[in-house]
Amino acid sequence: MLSKQDYQAIAANLDLPTNAFINGHFTAAQSGATFTTLNPATGAELAQVAACDSADVDMAVQRAREAFESGIWSKLQPTERKQVMIQFVKLLRRHRHELAVLEALDSGKPIRDCEAIDIEETIACIQWHAEAIDKIYDQVAPTGDDAVAMIVREPLGVVAAVLPWNFPMLMAAWKLGPALAAGNSLILKPAEETSMTCLRMAELALEAGIPAGVLNVLPGMGETCGQAIGRHMDIDGVSFTGSTEVGRYFLKYAAESNLKKVVLECGGKNPCIVLDDAERLDEVAEQVLTAVFWNMGENCSSNSRLIVHADIKPQLLAKLQDQLGDWRVGDPLDPQFALGAMISAAHFDKVMGYIAAGKQEGASLFAGGKAIDTGSGWFIEPTIFDNVTPAMSIAQAEIFGPVLSILTVNSAAEAVALANDTCYGLAASIFTSNVRRAHNMARAIKAGTVTVNCYGEGNLATPFGGYKESGFGGRDNGIHAHDQYTEVKTIWLDLTTESDAELD
Ligand code: NAP
Ligand code: MG
Repeated sequence: MLSKQDYQAIAANLDLPTNAFINGHFTAAQSGATFTTLNPATGAELAQVAACDSADVDMAVQRAREAFESGIWSKLQPTERKQVMIQFVKLLRRHRHELAVLEALDSGKPIRDCEAIDIEETIACIQWHAEAIDKIYDQVAPTGDDAVAMIVREPLGVVAAVLPWNFPMLMAAWKLGPALAAGNSLILKPAEETSMTCLRMAELALEAGIPAGVLNVLPGMGETCGQAIGRHMDIDGVSFTGSTEVGRYFLKYAAESNLKKVVLECGGKNPCIVLDDAERLDEVAEQVLTAVFWNMGENCSSNSRLIVHADIKPQLLAKLQDQLGDWRVGDPLDPQFALGAMISAAHFDKVMGYIAAGKQEGASLFAGGKAIDTGSGWFIEPTIFDNVTPAMSIAQAEIFGPVLSILTVNSAAEAVALANDTCYGLAASIFTSNVRRAHNMARAIKAGTVTVNCYGEGNLATPFGGYKESGFGGRDNGIHAHDQYTEVKTIWLDLTTESDAELD
């Protein structure tokens, strides 16, 4: 970690990437159109960014297809593809402070998280998939001696990833790691609020030796650029992370175009259950607060519902109160702050709207509840509501902000029923000292990841994605992520013989 002054100096000297990255070159949108990207901490314009539309998507797909068919990446020896991706990882590490500052400026995320989490996990993710390349075996089916049936994996071809703004670099890494490892050509569409780190990553990938045309980045609006990707006849798959609402569009786009493979990672309203036998309440409180306030709550796996047993609630609330001071909000470039700015004015308004609804619907405000006036930018206090009931909007809606809703129960069974009482099923955490109960509850909760006695998303080796309306079609992370970017092919070799003569 550097000092605030160091980060400010890096920020002052940054060369902001603003053009699309197609076929190894930065290029303006063909229409010449641009859009404004803002610094959420100040509300000031950072830059004008190329607004790509369907003409740019066509161009990028053509180049990506040519690269794929040429075999320059798709047919490279696995060990060679691995070496190039490892070189990419080294360049990311060399430029980590620059990337962290770019991320903080463009997204409002606190620099200490950009350094310790976003860039570190981005690097670790790409390295994990790179190292897997020459360790994944295909299969031979049990056919008997008359045939050999190979079950082989092949890259899909040209794939696209449409990304959210909450973890711009890391979500790009979750997609490009396995997609490039498998040999695909890729088109990334970052969220309009946060295009820059993705563009810089693509430039570094080229420098590392990933051939031109293999990794392309198209900034632009969802409705134009995103839709053109979703409906393109020559894109073989789309991996999407974002809201459930927009995720549904990609299923429609695929149905109305070429039936491209679609994988969706969508929203969540994740429960954190604390039972009466939870141990080490100081640590539980720390996890509860991290689970909801980390990344300003702009996190799909945020545990925004605390479901707590009545018998332990008073002690837990006292611990939460004690620790709230650790969650200070301020200048994203200043490493002393745990929370930065909300991504945009519109999102700030949405979160403040839920806080107003919580008050109006009769929940009791336990902490926070106000905007922070820093003179500019969009900052919100960490906010906790007690006495929330299941029908309230703050118990059901994915707020995607620093807002915790506390619901009180009297049994583990009641906790599980409440945990499952939303349309989502992304993640859940359970705090209890009874392993048998933890296991039974983990099985009963409909969520893609259930953590026991900690908050988390597993790690790079464990698949991540949602049940119910939190996801569709596949998983990010772990070896399961490779399923998103590969087709399964059966090659059946008939070996039946008339006699043994052919042994001669
Ligand atoms: P979003 O509005 O759904 O946007 C996601 C992406 O889709 C953006 O690139 C967006 O472009 C694009 N898009 C928007 N409308 C589109 C359309 N009509 N056609 C095609 N593409 C379109 O989500 P967000 O606001 O960026 O991110 C917040 C959401 O992401 C939350 O619901 C959160 O839970 C979810 N999320 C899920 C995960 C996970 O792994 N499950 C991880 C992170 C976030 P624009 O940039 O122009 O909007
Ligand atoms: Mg958006």
